[in-house]
Amino acid sequence: SGATHDGVPHYPVHRNLSPCPAEQRQQVLDAPRFGTRFTDHMARARWTPDTGWADRRVEAYGPLRLDPAAAVLHYGQEIFEGLKVYRHGDGSVWAFRPALNAARFAASARRLALPELDTDDFLASIAALVNADVDWVPTLPGSSLYLRPFMIASEAFLGVRPAAQVDYLVIASPAASYFGGGFEPVSIWVADGQHRAGPGGTGAAKCGGNYAASLLPQQQAAEHGCDQVCFLDAATNTLLEEIGSMNVLVVTDDGTVHTPELSGTILSGVTRRSVLDLLREQGRTVSERPIPLAEVREGLREGTVTEVFACGTAAVITPIGRLAGAGFDLTVGDGSPGPITSALHATLTGIQYGTSADVHGWMRRL
Ligand code: PMP
Repeated sequence: SGATHDGVPHYPVHRNLSPCPAEQRQQVLDAPRFGTRFTDHMARARWTPDTGWADRRVEAYGPLRLDPAAAVLHYGQEIFEGLKVYRHGDGSVWAFRPALNAARFAASARRLALPELDTDDFLASIAALVNADVDWVPTLPGSSLYLRPFMIASEAFLGVRPAAQVDYLVIASPAASYFGGGFEPVSIWVADGQHRAGPGGTGAAKCGGNYAASLLPQQQAAEHGCDQVCFLDAATNTLLEEIGSMNVLVVTDDGTVHTPELSGTILSGVTRRSVLDLLREQGRTVSERPIPLAEVREGLREGTVTEVFACGTAAVITPIGRLAGAGFDLTVGDGSPGPITSALHATLTGIQYGTSADVHGWMRRL
């Protein structure tokens, strides 16, 4: 069991014998609080150099048994992904471009010297988990089931080298809107002199360490009364990189949409890619390039920057109403969501929730 049959990875289900009672599950689904409650099952597999990926299964959600010497606890050899599953009007459940998450997971694995998991394996694991826990996919407008695939170095060995035992898991949590307010503009604090990643580092990988590095700057953003932190590049401390867990885009009065290029220090967002795909299709000019903070500040003061927004799986499209940092505090437009921001939000959520046609074939039925 848990092997591959004719090359097709198979995740056999070992049912949770004490699942969450239906009434209790319904209470969670009626008011999902992101990342606080998890479904009845988790998918998992284990890798060793001898077996490759093996022991695939779906089993009861629960605590891991991990040796205190497990390498992940000491050296942070870990990667993760985040993607959502949406319920459509006919009850069917769909993931948004999950093959892109699979590809990014493999790229992250390479950077962290972890074993790669094939796209087929990644997709089979999420399909097996979602099918086992399909009753946990919420139906409320704007809600979804958030999937968190991750990979950890579980070998018990204190030594700085790639682990020879690695565990892959997928857990799932019902989600409403990520930010309490829904489609409300957020305020951004530009971190001053603190960075999440540097040239040649792990910024383009989705590894826990990047997020650990972002916590203190995020705390400082909150102390300045802002919702989220935006990082500048470590090499020059002048270029916009990304928000804590979102990519950032800037609209100018000629209708061009600008976003930091994939320089190796920022995450290649699935939402970013989808936004750029949609904009190019609409005939808009998209400029992926280094974006100096000074240029955006000047554009906001002069009114040539008309919209700033962030994008990511959690909140899809998030309008930015205020951009502040050391020595400046600027309102974006009149502080309310701009037309391009609002239209992108409507288009993307329409595709995800199945209310508009998926002409690109982005949705994958599970
Ligand atoms: N940047 C960072 C640092 C992130 O954590 C995320 C969320 N995965 C993103 C950007 C947006 O990526 P995606 O659109 O794939 O969610």
